Amino acid sequence: MADAVQSRNTGGIDEPVRPHRIVIVGGGAGGLELATQLGDKLGRRGKAEITLIDKARAHLWKPLLHEIAAGSMDLGHHELEYLAQAHWHHFRYRTGEMIGLDRGRREVLVGPVVEENGTEVTPARGYPYDTLVLAVGSLTNDFGTPGVAEHAICLETPEEAARFHRRLVNACLRAQSQEEPLRPGQLQVAIIGAGATGVELAAELHKSTRELVAFGLDRIDPDRDITLHLIEAADRILPALPPRIAKAATDLLGGLGVKVYTSARVAALVPNGVKLADGRIINAELVVWAAGVKAPAFLQNLGGLETNTTNQLVVRETLQTTRDDDIFAIGDCAACPWTERNALVPPRAQAAHQQSTHLSKHLPRKLAGARLAPWHYRDFGSLVSLGEYSTVGSLMGKLVGRNLFVEGYFARLMYVSLYKMHEYALHGFIKVALDTAVRLINRRTEPQVKLH
Ligand SMILES: Cc1cc2nc3c(=O)[nH]c(=O)nc-3n(C[C@H](O)[C@H](O)[C@H](O)COP(=O)(O)OP(=O)(O)OC[C@H]3O[C@@H](n4cnc5c(N)ncnc54)[C@H](O)[C@@H]3O)c2cc1C
Repeated sequence: MADAVQSRNTGGIDEPVRPHRIVIVGGGAGGLELATQLGDKLGRRGKAEITLIDKARAHLWKPLLHEIAAGSMDLGHHELEYLAQAHWHHFRYRTGEMIGLDRGRREVLVGPVVEENGTEVTPARGYPYDTLVLAVGSLTNDFGTPGVAEHAICLETPEEAARFHRRLVNACLRAQSQEEPLRPGQLQVAIIGAGATGVELAAELHKSTRELVAFGLDRIDPDRDITLHLIEAADRILPALPPRIAKAATDLLGGLGVKVYTSARVAALVPNGVKLADGRIINAELVVWAAGVKAPAFLQNLGGLETNTTNQLVVRETLQTTRDDDIFAIGDCAACPWTERNALVPPRAQAAHQQSTHLSKHLPRKLAGARLAPWHYRDFGSLVSLGEYSTVGSLMGKLVGRNLFVEGYFARLMYVSLYKMHEYALHGFIKVALDTAVRLINRRTEPQVKLH
Protein backbone atom coordinates (compact mmCIF):
# COMPACT_ATOMS: atom_id res chain seq x y z
CA MET A 1 0.00 0.00 0.00
CA ALA A 2 1.21 3.51 -0.78
CA ASP A 3 1.19 5.08 2.65
CA ALA A 4 4.89 5.89 2.49
CA VAL A 5 5.62 9.56 1.89
CA GLN A 6 8.19 10.12 -0.85
CA SER A 7 10.70 12.98 -0.78
CA ARG A 8 11.67 15.55 -3.38
CA ASN A 9 14.87 17.53 -3.06
CA THR A 10 14.21 21.26 -3.47
CA GLY A 11 17.45 23.15 -3.15
CA GLY A 12 18.84 21.14 -0.29
CA ILE A 13 15.61 20.90 1.71
CA ASP A 14 13.74 17.62 1.53
CA GLU A 15 10.06 18.42 0.94
CA PRO A 16 7.63 15.54 1.39
CA VAL A 17 5.79 14.56 -1.78
CA ARG A 18 2.67 12.57 -1.21
CA PRO A 19 1.77 9.87 -3.72
CA HIS A 20 -0.90 10.62 -6.31
CA ARG A 21 -4.32 9.78 -4.84
CA ILE A 22 -6.64 7.77 -7.05
CA VAL A 23 -10.10 7.33 -5.52
CA ILE A 24 -12.51 4.83 -7.11
CA VAL A 25 -16.14 4.93 -5.99
CA GLY A 26 -18.04 1.67 -6.57
CA GLY A 27 -16.45 -1.77 -6.40
CA GLY A 28 -18.58 -3.58 -8.97
CA ALA A 29 -17.82 -5.22 -12.31
CA GLY A 30 -15.72 -2.20 -13.37
CA GLY A 31 -14.52 -0.52 -10.17
CA LEU A 32 -13.22 -3.57 -8.29
CA GLU A 33 -11.23 -4.80 -11.30
CA LEU A 34 -9.72 -1.32 -11.67
CA ALA A 35 -8.82 -1.00 -7.97
CA THR A 36 -7.21 -4.46 -8.07
CA GLN A 37 -5.18 -3.80 -11.21
CA LEU A 38 -4.04 -0.33 -10.10
CA GLY A 39 -3.26 -1.64 -6.63
CA ASP A 40 -1.01 -4.31 -8.15
CA LYS A 41 0.63 -1.91 -10.58
CA LEU A 42 0.94 1.34 -8.61
CA GLY A 43 -0.13 0.76 -4.99
CA ARG A 44 2.29 -2.10 -4.43
CA ARG A 45 5.29 0.05 -5.40
CA GLY A 46 4.08 3.17 -3.59
CA LYS A 47 3.66 5.02 -6.90
CA ALA A 48 0.08 6.00 -6.09
CA GLU A 49 -2.39 5.61 -3.26
CA ILE A 50 -5.47 3.74 -4.45
CA THR A 51 -8.68 3.97 -2.41
CA LEU A 52 -11.89 2.11 -3.17
CA ILE A 53 -15.12 3.37 -1.58
CA ASP A 54 -18.22 1.17 -1.63
CA LYS A 55 -21.40 1.25 0.42
CA ALA A 56 -21.38 -2.58 0.51
CA ARG A 57 -18.85 -4.69 2.42
CA ALA A 58 -18.56 -7.46 -0.16
CA HIS A 59 -18.67 -7.74 -3.93
CA LEU A 60 -20.85 -10.03 -5.99
CA TRP A 61 -20.71 -9.93 -9.80
CA LYS A 62 -24.19 -8.59 -10.63
CA PRO A 63 -25.02 -10.94 -13.52
CA LEU A 64 -25.17 -13.73 -10.90
CA LEU A 65 -28.07 -12.11 -9.06
CA HIS A 66 -30.82 -14.01 -10.87
CA GLU A 67 -29.15 -17.31 -9.90
CA ILE A 68 -29.02 -16.19 -6.25
CA ALA A 69 -32.71 -15.21 -6.48
CA ALA A 70 -33.66 -18.60 -7.93
CA GLY A 71 -31.56 -20.40 -5.31
CA SER A 72 -29.39 -22.18 -7.86
CA MET A 73 -26.26 -20.47 -6.55
CA ASP A 74 -25.03 -19.98 -3.00
CA LEU A 75 -24.14 -16.35 -2.32
CA GLY A 76 -21.41 -17.34 0.16
CA HIS A 77 -19.46 -19.21 -2.54
CA HIS A 78 -19.19 -16.17 -4.82
CA GLU A 79 -19.02 -13.08 -2.59
CA LEU A 80 -15.66 -11.36 -2.21
CA GLU A 81 -14.86 -9.28 0.89
CA TYR A 82 -13.54 -5.83 -0.05
CA LEU A 83 -11.23 -5.64 2.99
CA ALA A 84 -9.53 -8.90 2.04
CA GLN A 85 -9.19 -8.03 -1.66
CA ALA A 86 -7.75 -4.63 -0.69
CA HIS A 87 -5.23 -6.24 1.64
CA TRP A 88 -4.09 -8.72 -1.01
CA HIS A 89 -3.89 -6.17 -3.83
CA HIS A 90 -2.38 -3.09 -2.20
CA PHE A 91 -5.32 -0.69 -2.20
CA ARG A 92 -7.44 0.71 0.62
CA TYR A 93 -11.10 -0.04 1.06
CA ARG A 94 -13.28 2.48 2.84
CA THR A 95 -16.92 1.76 3.61
CA GLY A 96 -19.71 4.28 3.03
CA GLU A 97 -22.11 5.73 0.53
CA MET A 98 -20.99 8.61 -1.66
CA ILE A 99 -23.52 11.41 -1.29
CA GLY A 100 -21.76 14.36 -2.88
CA LEU A 101 -18.65 15.85 -4.44
CA ASP A 102 -16.72 19.01 -3.64
CA ARG A 103 -14.82 19.67 -6.85
CA GLY A 104 -13.27 22.85 -5.47
CA ARG A 105 -11.63 20.99 -2.59
CA ARG A 106 -11.29 17.78 -4.68
CA GLU A 107 -13.13 15.69 -2.12
CA VAL A 108 -15.59 12.83 -2.36
CA LEU A 109 -18.27 13.27 0.30
CA VAL A 110 -19.37 10.08 2.02
CA GLY A 111 -22.27 9.75 4.46
CA PRO A 112 -21.99 8.15 7.92
CA VAL A 113 -22.32 4.37 8.28
CA VAL A 114 -24.72 3.42 11.07
CA GLU A 115 -25.72 0.07 12.56
CA GLU A 116 -29.35 -1.10 12.60
CA ASN A 117 -29.67 0.18 16.19
CA GLY A 118 -28.47 3.65 15.20
CA THR A 119 -24.89 3.37 16.53
CA GLU A 120 -22.42 5.11 14.25
CA VAL A 121 -19.75 2.90 12.67
CA THR A 122 -17.95 5.54 10.62
CA PRO A 123 -18.70 9.29 10.56
CA ALA A 124 -19.55 11.37 7.50
CA ARG A 125 -16.30 12.44 5.89
CA GLY A 126 -14.53 13.63 2.78
CA TYR A 127 -11.90 11.68 0.84
CA PRO A 128 -9.40 13.84 -1.06
CA TYR A 129 -8.42 12.77 -4.58
CA ASP A 130 -6.13 13.79 -7.39
CA THR A 131 -7.86 11.44 -9.85
CA LEU A 132 -11.41 10.25 -9.27
CA VAL A 133 -13.12 7.33 -11.02
CA LEU A 134 -16.88 6.97 -10.55
CA ALA A 135 -18.13 3.41 -11.08
CA VAL A 136 -21.37 3.36 -9.08
CA GLY A 137 -23.39 1.24 -11.54
CA SER A 138 -27.11 1.53 -12.08
CA LEU A 139 -30.43 0.97 -10.31
CA THR A 140 -33.75 -0.36 -11.51
CA ASN A 141 -35.85 2.12 -13.47
CA ASP A 142 -39.52 1.77 -12.50
CA PHE A 143 -40.53 4.56 -14.92
CA GLY A 144 -42.77 5.97 -12.16
CA THR A 145 -45.08 2.93 -12.21
CA PRO A 146 -47.31 2.97 -9.10
CA GLY A 147 -46.88 0.14 -6.61
CA VAL A 148 -43.36 -1.00 -7.60
CA ALA A 149 -41.72 -0.01 -4.30
CA GLU A 150 -44.49 -1.66 -2.23
CA HIS A 151 -45.18 -4.84 -4.18
CA ALA A 152 -42.13 -5.82 -6.26
CA ILE A 153 -38.60 -6.95 -5.58
CA CYS A 154 -35.92 -5.40 -7.78
CA LEU A 155 -32.79 -7.48 -8.34
CA GLU A 156 -30.28 -4.76 -7.50
CA THR A 157 -28.25 -6.20 -4.67
CA PRO A 158 -27.36 -9.63 -3.25
CA GLU A 159 -29.63 -8.82 -0.27
CA GLU A 160 -32.61 -8.23 -2.58
CA ALA A 161 -31.90 -11.43 -4.52
CA ALA A 162 -31.60 -13.41 -1.25
CA ARG A 163 -34.86 -11.81 0.01
CA PHE A 164 -36.65 -12.95 -3.12
CA HIS A 165 -35.30 -16.47 -2.67
CA ARG A 166 -36.46 -16.61 0.97
CA ARG A 167 -39.95 -15.52 -0.08
CA LEU A 168 -39.99 -18.16 -2.81
CA VAL A 169 -39.05 -20.95 -0.37
CA ASN A 170 -41.62 -19.63 2.16
CA ALA A 171 -44.31 -19.62 -0.54
CA CYS A 172 -43.60 -23.29 -1.28
CA LEU A 173 -43.52 -24.26 2.44
CA ARG A 174 -46.82 -22.40 2.99
CA ALA A 175 -48.50 -24.15 0.08
CA GLN A 176 -47.19 -27.53 1.24
CA SER A 177 -48.63 -27.13 4.73
CA GLN A 178 -52.05 -25.72 3.87
CA GLU A 179 -55.20 -27.88 3.75
CA GLU A 180 -57.33 -25.65 1.50
CA PRO A 181 -56.81 -25.30 -2.27
CA LEU A 182 -54.37 -22.70 -3.60
CA ARG A 183 -55.68 -19.12 -3.77
CA PRO A 184 -55.61 -17.22 -7.10
CA GLY A 185 -52.05 -15.98 -7.55
CA GLN A 186 -50.58 -18.38 -5.00
CA LEU A 187 -47.30 -19.97 -6.24
CA GLN A 188 -47.39 -17.65 -9.25
CA VAL A 189 -44.43 -15.42 -10.07
CA ALA A 190 -44.67 -12.39 -12.37
CA ILE A 191 -41.45 -11.09 -13.90
CA ILE A 192 -41.79 -7.65 -15.43
CA GLY A 193 -39.34 -6.96 -18.22
CA ALA A 194 -38.22 -9.63 -20.67
CA GLY A 195 -34.72 -8.36 -21.28
CA ALA A 196 -31.83 -10.72 -20.58
CA THR A 197 -32.35 -10.53 -16.80
CA GLY A 198 -36.07 -11.36 -16.93
CA VAL A 199 -35.65 -14.19 -19.44
CA GLU A 200 -32.72 -15.72 -17.54
CA LEU A 201 -34.63 -15.48 -14.26
CA ALA A 202 -37.71 -17.21 -15.75
CA ALA A 203 -35.66 -20.18 -17.00
CA GLU A 204 -33.67 -20.40 -13.77
CA LEU A 205 -36.83 -20.29 -11.61
CA HIS A 206 -38.46 -23.02 -13.69
CA LYS A 207 -35.57 -25.33 -12.92
CA SER A 208 -34.95 -24.38 -9.28
CA THR A 209 -38.61 -24.55 -8.18
CA ARG A 210 -38.78 -28.10 -9.52
CA GLU A 211 -35.63 -29.03 -7.65
CA LEU A 212 -36.90 -27.41 -4.46
CA VAL A 213 -40.23 -29.22 -4.61
CA ALA A 214 -38.45 -32.53 -5.25
CA PHE A 215 -36.96 -32.28 -1.71
CA GLY A 216 -40.13 -33.66 -0.10
CA LEU A 217 -42.74 -30.96 -0.89
CA ASP A 218 -44.99 -33.67 -2.26
CA ARG A 219 -48.27 -31.76 -2.14
CA ILE A 220 -47.06 -29.37 -4.82
CA ASP A 221 -47.16 -30.44 -8.44
CA PRO A 222 -44.93 -27.88 -10.20
CA ASP A 223 -46.54 -28.30 -13.63
CA ARG A 224 -50.01 -27.79 -12.18
CA ASP A 225 -49.37 -25.38 -9.29
CA ILE A 226 -46.39 -23.14 -10.13
CA THR A 227 -46.80 -20.59 -12.94
CA LEU A 228 -44.22 -18.12 -14.20
CA HIS A 229 -45.49 -15.02 -16.05
CA LEU A 230 -43.03 -13.02 -18.14
CA ILE A 231 -44.39 -9.59 -19.08
CA GLU A 232 -42.83 -7.32 -21.74
CA ALA A 233 -43.98 -3.96 -23.12
CA ALA A 234 -42.22 -4.44 -26.49
CA ASP A 235 -43.66 -6.67 -29.20
CA ARG A 236 -41.16 -9.45 -28.49
CA ILE A 237 -38.98 -10.65 -25.66
CA LEU A 238 -35.27 -9.66 -25.64
CA PRO A 239 -36.07 -6.49 -27.63
CA ALA A 240 -32.46 -5.27 -27.54
CA LEU A 241 -31.08 -8.50 -29.06
CA PRO A 242 -31.33 -9.92 -32.59
CA PRO A 243 -34.76 -11.47 -33.45
CA ARG A 244 -33.27 -14.94 -33.92
CA ILE A 245 -32.12 -15.07 -30.27
CA ALA A 246 -35.56 -13.87 -29.14
CA LYS A 247 -37.25 -16.57 -31.26
CA ALA A 248 -35.06 -19.34 -29.80
CA ALA A 249 -35.70 -18.10 -26.23
CA THR A 250 -39.46 -17.73 -26.86
CA ASP A 251 -39.68 -21.29 -28.17
CA LEU A 252 -37.77 -22.68 -25.20
CA LEU A 253 -39.76 -20.74 -22.59
CA GLY A 254 -43.02 -21.75 -24.33
CA GLY A 255 -41.94 -25.40 -24.14
CA LEU A 256 -41.35 -24.99 -20.39
CA GLY A 257 -44.84 -23.60 -19.90
CA VAL A 258 -43.73 -20.04 -19.02
CA LYS A 259 -46.57 -17.62 -19.88
CA VAL A 260 -45.10 -14.90 -22.06
CA TYR A 261 -47.01 -11.61 -22.54
CA THR A 262 -45.69 -9.22 -25.20
CA SER A 263 -46.95 -5.70 -26.06
CA ALA A 264 -48.16 -5.75 -22.45
CA ARG A 265 -47.56 -2.46 -20.66
CA VAL A 266 -47.78 -2.55 -16.88
CA ALA A 267 -50.06 0.19 -15.50
CA ALA A 268 -49.58 -0.54 -11.79
CA LEU A 269 -48.62 -3.17 -9.28
CA VAL A 270 -51.39 -4.05 -6.83
CA PRO A 271 -51.35 -6.36 -3.78
CA ASN A 272 -50.82 -9.88 -5.14
CA GLY A 273 -50.88 -8.89 -8.77
CA VAL A 274 -49.99 -6.85 -11.82
CA LYS A 275 -52.44 -4.56 -13.58
CA LEU A 276 -51.83 -4.16 -17.32
CA ALA A 277 -52.69 -1.01 -19.28
CA ASP A 278 -55.39 -2.95 -21.20
CA GLY A 279 -57.16 -3.71 -17.90
CA ARG A 280 -56.05 -7.34 -17.47
CA ILE A 281 -54.93 -8.39 -14.00
CA ILE A 282 -52.26 -11.07 -13.60
CA ASN A 283 -52.47 -12.60 -10.13
CA ALA A 284 -49.07 -13.34 -8.60
CA GLU A 285 -47.85 -13.55 -5.02
CA LEU A 286 -44.28 -12.77 -6.04
CA VAL A 287 -43.41 -9.96 -8.44
CA VAL A 288 -39.94 -9.12 -9.77
CA TRP A 289 -39.34 -5.81 -11.52
CA ALA A 290 -36.59 -6.23 -14.13
CA ALA A 291 -37.56 -3.58 -16.69
CA GLY A 292 -34.82 -1.08 -17.43
CA VAL A 293 -32.05 0.67 -15.52
CA LYS A 294 -30.98 4.21 -14.68
CA ALA A 295 -27.94 5.61 -12.92
CA PRO A 296 -28.25 6.65 -9.21
CA ALA A 297 -30.05 9.99 -8.65
CA PHE A 298 -27.19 11.53 -6.60
CA LEU A 299 -25.19 11.86 -9.84
CA GLN A 300 -27.59 14.59 -11.02
CA ASN A 301 -25.92 17.97 -10.49
CA LEU A 302 -22.94 16.26 -8.87
CA GLY A 303 -20.39 19.04 -8.57
CA GLY A 304 -21.71 20.52 -11.83
CA LEU A 305 -20.73 17.48 -13.93
CA GLU A 306 -22.77 16.83 -17.09
CA THR A 307 -25.44 14.08 -16.86
CA ASN A 308 -28.11 12.77 -19.24
CA THR A 309 -31.80 12.00 -18.65
CA THR A 310 -31.04 8.66 -16.98
CA ASN A 311 -28.55 10.30 -14.56
CA GLN A 312 -25.49 8.88 -16.35
CA LEU A 313 -22.33 11.01 -16.29
CA VAL A 314 -21.49 12.07 -19.82
CA VAL A 315 -17.92 11.06 -20.70
CA ARG A 316 -15.61 11.46 -23.68
CA GLU A 317 -13.90 8.56 -25.45
CA THR A 318 -11.05 8.85 -22.96
CA LEU A 319 -13.65 8.08 -20.23
CA GLN A 320 -13.01 11.54 -18.73
CA THR A 321 -16.15 13.45 -17.79
CA THR A 322 -16.91 16.30 -20.18
CA ARG A 323 -16.31 19.04 -17.60
CA ASP A 324 -13.42 17.71 -15.54
CA ASP A 325 -10.27 16.04 -16.88
CA ASP A 326 -9.46 14.49 -13.49
CA ILE A 327 -12.83 12.80 -13.04
CA PHE A 328 -13.58 9.61 -14.96
CA ALA A 329 -16.71 7.47 -15.12
CA ILE A 330 -16.96 3.83 -16.18
CA GLY A 331 -19.59 1.11 -16.33
CA ASP A 332 -23.35 1.56 -16.14
CA CYS A 333 -23.14 5.07 -14.65
CA ALA A 334 -21.24 6.43 -17.68
CA ALA A 335 -22.85 7.70 -20.89
CA CYS A 336 -20.00 6.84 -23.21
CA PRO A 337 -20.15 7.38 -26.98
CA TRP A 338 -20.13 4.26 -29.17
CA THR A 339 -19.01 6.08 -32.28
CA GLU A 340 -19.21 3.11 -34.69
CA ARG A 341 -22.94 2.74 -33.95
CA ASN A 342 -23.72 6.40 -33.28
CA ALA A 343 -25.16 5.29 -29.94
CA LEU A 344 -24.18 4.97 -26.30
CA VAL A 345 -22.22 1.98 -25.01
CA PRO A 346 -24.83 -0.38 -23.47
CA PRO A 347 -24.88 -0.99 -19.70
CA ARG A 348 -23.19 -4.39 -19.69
CA ALA A 349 -20.57 -6.18 -17.65
CA GLN A 350 -18.40 -6.65 -20.74
CA ALA A 351 -18.31 -2.84 -21.27
CA ALA A 352 -17.41 -2.21 -17.59
CA HIS A 353 -14.68 -4.88 -17.85
CA GLN A 354 -13.18 -3.39 -21.03
CA GLN A 355 -13.26 0.15 -19.60
CA SER A 356 -11.51 -0.87 -16.39
CA THR A 357 -8.86 -2.76 -18.38
CA HIS A 358 -8.32 0.38 -20.49
CA LEU A 359 -7.98 2.68 -17.47
CA SER A 360 -5.70 0.27 -15.64
CA LYS A 361 -3.28 0.64 -18.57
CA HIS A 362 -3.76 4.33 -19.26
CA LEU A 363 -4.03 5.92 -15.79
CA PRO A 364 -0.41 4.94 -14.95
CA ARG A 365 0.63 6.53 -18.26
CA LYS A 366 -1.32 9.69 -17.40
CA LEU A 367 0.51 9.86 -14.08
CA ALA A 368 3.76 9.70 -16.04
CA GLY A 369 2.62 12.68 -18.13
CA ALA A 370 1.48 10.85 -21.30
CA ARG A 371 -1.68 11.75 -23.22
CA LEU A 372 -4.74 9.58 -22.66
CA ALA A 373 -5.72 7.29 -25.52
CA PRO A 374 -9.40 6.91 -26.47
CA TRP A 375 -11.27 3.74 -25.54
CA HIS A 376 -13.32 1.85 -28.13
CA TYR A 377 -16.03 -0.61 -27.19
CA ARG A 378 -15.66 -4.06 -28.74
CA ASP A 379 -19.01 -5.81 -28.84
CA PHE A 380 -18.34 -9.54 -28.63
CA GLY A 381 -22.06 -10.31 -28.83
CA SER A 382 -24.78 -11.20 -26.36
CA LEU A 383 -25.51 -14.45 -24.64
CA VAL A 384 -28.62 -15.36 -22.70
CA SER A 385 -28.50 -18.26 -20.27
CA LEU A 386 -31.69 -20.31 -20.11
CA GLY A 387 -30.54 -22.12 -17.00
CA GLU A 388 -29.53 -25.71 -17.57
CA TYR A 389 -31.93 -25.96 -20.50
CA SER A 390 -29.78 -24.06 -23.00
CA THR A 391 -27.84 -20.89 -23.73
CA VAL A 392 -28.50 -18.82 -26.85
CA GLY A 393 -26.83 -15.77 -28.29
CA SER A 394 -24.75 -14.21 -30.96
CA LEU A 395 -21.03 -13.72 -31.21
CA MET A 396 -19.76 -10.70 -33.05
CA GLY A 397 -16.74 -8.83 -34.21
CA LYS A 398 -13.23 -9.89 -35.05
CA LEU A 399 -13.58 -13.03 -32.96
CA VAL A 400 -15.79 -14.71 -35.57
CA GLY A 401 -15.70 -12.24 -38.49
CA ARG A 402 -19.49 -11.81 -38.60
CA ASN A 403 -22.61 -11.98 -36.44
CA LEU A 404 -22.86 -15.68 -35.58
CA PHE A 405 -25.85 -17.31 -33.87
CA VAL A 406 -24.74 -19.77 -31.18
CA GLU A 407 -26.67 -22.17 -29.02
CA GLY A 408 -26.14 -25.01 -26.55
CA TYR A 409 -22.88 -26.13 -24.98
CA PHE A 410 -20.56 -23.78 -26.91
CA ALA A 411 -22.80 -20.80 -26.08
CA ARG A 412 -22.78 -21.90 -22.42
CA LEU A 413 -18.98 -21.99 -22.42
CA MET A 414 -18.81 -18.47 -23.86
CA TYR A 415 -21.38 -17.27 -21.28
CA VAL A 416 -19.40 -18.72 -18.38
CA SER A 417 -16.16 -17.26 -19.77
CA LEU A 418 -17.43 -13.69 -19.16
CA TYR A 419 -17.55 -14.39 -15.41
CA LYS A 420 -14.22 -16.21 -15.58
CA MET A 421 -12.65 -13.12 -17.19
CA HIS A 422 -13.95 -11.05 -14.27
CA GLU A 423 -12.60 -13.54 -11.74
CA TYR A 424 -9.28 -13.70 -13.61
CA ALA A 425 -8.94 -9.90 -13.42
CA LEU A 426 -9.51 -10.08 -9.65
CA HIS A 427 -7.56 -13.19 -8.68
CA GLY A 428 -5.26 -14.37 -11.47
CA PHE A 429 -5.15 -17.76 -13.15
CA ILE A 430 -4.20 -20.14 -10.32
CA LYS A 431 -6.89 -19.05 -7.86
CA VAL A 432 -9.58 -19.08 -10.58
CA ALA A 433 -8.57 -22.61 -11.63
CA LEU A 434 -8.61 -23.85 -8.00
CA ASP A 435 -11.93 -22.14 -7.20
CA THR A 436 -13.51 -23.60 -10.33
CA ALA A 437 -12.37 -27.10 -9.35
CA VAL A 438 -13.71 -26.71 -5.79
CA ARG A 439 -17.09 -25.46 -7.06
CA LEU A 440 -17.35 -28.39 -9.47
CA ILE A 441 -16.71 -30.83 -6.61
CA ASN A 442 -19.25 -29.03 -4.39
CA ARG A 443 -21.89 -29.27 -7.12
CA ARG A 444 -21.63 -33.05 -6.90
CA THR A 445 -21.87 -33.20 -3.12
CA GLU A 446 -24.42 -30.49 -2.30
CA PRO A 447 -28.08 -29.94 -3.33
CA GLN A 448 -28.33 -28.09 -6.66
CA VAL A 449 -30.73 -25.65 -5.07
CA LYS A 450 -30.54 -23.63 -1.87
CA LEU A 451 -33.23 -24.95 0.47
CA HIS A 452 -33.57 -22.07 2.95
C1 LIG B 1 -29.66 -9.78 -12.80
C2 LIG B 1 -28.67 -9.14 -13.77
C3 LIG B 1 -28.12 -9.91 -14.79
C4 LIG B 1 -27.18 -9.34 -15.67
N1 LIG B 1 -26.63 -10.13 -16.65
C5 LIG B 1 -25.67 -9.60 -17.46
C6 LIG B 1 -25.03 -10.41 -18.44
O1 LIG B 1 -25.34 -11.61 -18.60
N2 LIG B 1 -24.06 -9.86 -19.23
C7 LIG B 1 -23.69 -8.55 -19.09
O2 LIG B 1 -22.80 -8.10 -19.82
N3 LIG B 1 -24.27 -7.75 -18.15
C8 LIG B 1 -25.26 -8.23 -17.35
N4 LIG B 1 -25.86 -7.43 -16.40
C9 LIG B 1 -25.44 -6.02 -16.32
C10 LIG B 1 -24.14 -5.92 -15.50
O3 LIG B 1 -24.32 -6.54 -14.24
C11 LIG B 1 -23.77 -4.46 -15.31
O4 LIG B 1 -23.66 -3.87 -16.59
C12 LIG B 1 -22.44 -4.32 -14.58
O5 LIG B 1 -22.49 -4.92 -13.29
C13 LIG B 1 -22.07 -2.84 -14.45
O6 LIG B 1 -20.87 -2.75 -13.73
P1 LIG B 1 -20.56 -1.44 -12.90
O7 LIG B 1 -19.17 -1.58 -12.38
O8 LIG B 1 -20.90 -0.23 -13.70
O9 LIG B 1 -21.61 -1.44 -11.70
P2 LIG B 1 -21.97 -2.54 -10.63
O10 LIG B 1 -21.39 -3.84 -10.96
O11 LIG B 1 -23.45 -2.43 -10.44
O12 LIG B 1 -21.26 -2.00 -9.30
C14 LIG B 1 -21.59 -0.77 -8.72
C15 LIG B 1 -20.99 -0.71 -7.32
O13 LIG B 1 -21.13 0.61 -6.84
C16 LIG B 1 -21.55 0.58 -5.48
N5 LIG B 1 -22.26 1.83 -5.23
C17 LIG B 1 -23.39 2.26 -5.83
N6 LIG B 1 -23.70 3.49 -5.39
C18 LIG B 1 -22.75 3.84 -4.49
C19 LIG B 1 -22.53 5.00 -3.69
N7 LIG B 1 -23.34 6.06 -3.75
N8 LIG B 1 -21.46 5.02 -2.87
C20 LIG B 1 -20.61 3.94 -2.80
N9 LIG B 1 -20.79 2.83 -3.54
C21 LIG B 1 -21.83 2.78 -4.38
C22 LIG B 1 -22.42 -0.67 -5.40
O14 LIG B 1 -22.50 -1.16 -4.07
C23 LIG B 1 -21.67 -1.63 -6.33
O15 LIG B 1 -20.70 -2.37 -5.63
C24 LIG B 1 -26.81 -7.97 -15.53
C25 LIG B 1 -27.38 -7.21 -14.50
C26 LIG B 1 -28.30 -7.77 -13.62
C27 LIG B 1 -28.90 -6.91 -12.52
